Amino acid sequence: MIHGKDLSCVFEGNITVTAVDHVHFGIEEGQITAIIGESGSGKSTLLKLIYGLLEPTSGEVRYRGWLVPTRKDKLIPGHDAMKLVSQGFDDLNLYAKVWDNVASQLSNTNLALKASKTQETLERLRIDHLAKKRVADLSGGEKQRVAICRALINDPEVLLMDEPFNQVDAAFRDELQQDIQQIVAETGLTVVMVSHDPAEVLAMANKLIVMKNGKIADAGDPHALYNWPHHPYTARLLAKSNILQPNEAKILGIETEHPIAIQQEHIQTELNLNGNYWIKEVRFRGFYNELIIGNEEVTLHQIQFPRLDVKKNTRIDILVTTYHVFEPKSN
Ligand code: ADP
Ligand code: MG
Repeated sequence: MIHGKDLSCVFEGNITVTAVDHVHFGIEEGQITAIIGESGSGKSTLLKLIYGLLEPTSGEVRYRGWLVPTRKDKLIPGHDAMKLVSQGFDDLNLYAKVWDNVASQLSNTNLALKASKTQETLERLRIDHLAKKRVADLSGGEKQRVAICRALINDPEVLLMDEPFNQVDAAFRDELQQDIQQIVAETGLTVVMVSHDPAEVLAMANKLIVMKNGKIADAGDPHALYNWPHHPYTARLLAKSNILQPNEAKILGIETEHPIAIQQEHIQTELNLNGNYWIKEVRFRGFYNELIIGNEEVTLHQIQFPRLDVKKNTRIDILVTTYHVFEPKSN
């Protein structure tokens, strides 16, 4: 549905920044695609390029085969079939009522339709009970729902969102994520969202685009990228995996020619007074412990679940149940 070819965006200034660096990608219709990466990796810039808010320095973005128009092509930037919910609530009128914020997106040619469509969209995002409230008086999560209503009321084919859950309290994030997933399932809407939160993208997205220094480090299905990342960066980002070089792996008895990733949940420890390793630190994480374990030469992070009452400096044995080898790329 959306294709990026050799797409770059360079910001010229005191220092030249290549925010997006010759990337190729495809976005499928009716799916949730998440762009994930560390801060400054070029996620927001890529989203703006897709929408046509920024002019590419090289390459192009095509929507159903058509070149996406940018500022130089039209007065109001942005593709008509797409809607962007930007970071923060810049587009909302804080002192107007929820109803007016949403209804104002529709024309006055058919007032009955305008009212019914507004009502329907508010219900879809479960904020119809807030219609008469001022946006300024709402919680972060409620404001985000208003922003999404505004974007969805004209039935765009693509919804673009930049860090949509940042201002939403953790307790309400799941609900909003599920509501968006449901809208996608019911309407065939295509969603492209930017996030830096692995839990969020693993739970929501059908496809991931992993950005690093303006380049796409990895792309694919979340389950596959979580378990079989192509790049150590992806393993750290999605699973906080332990990355070991061959010489470090050898200390644990793992023979490999290439670096490996060990997920924190794939390590077991057994208390052993004569063990070769010890617990360096115990971090209480609620329903599990994060243990930092190892010896002088190697350090690993382990998820201990169920949690046991263990102490720092206790001698242990380490058992690695599964690990992933980073084979060098064949090209
Ligand atoms: P992310 O969203 O992943 O945090 P951004 O796409 O916002 O990253 O930024 C990527 C890089 O481009 C950063 O180094 C950022 O400082 C730079 N950048 C972004 N927008 C601009 C701009 N308008 N002018 C100059 N540099 C920019
Ligand atoms: Mg950003």
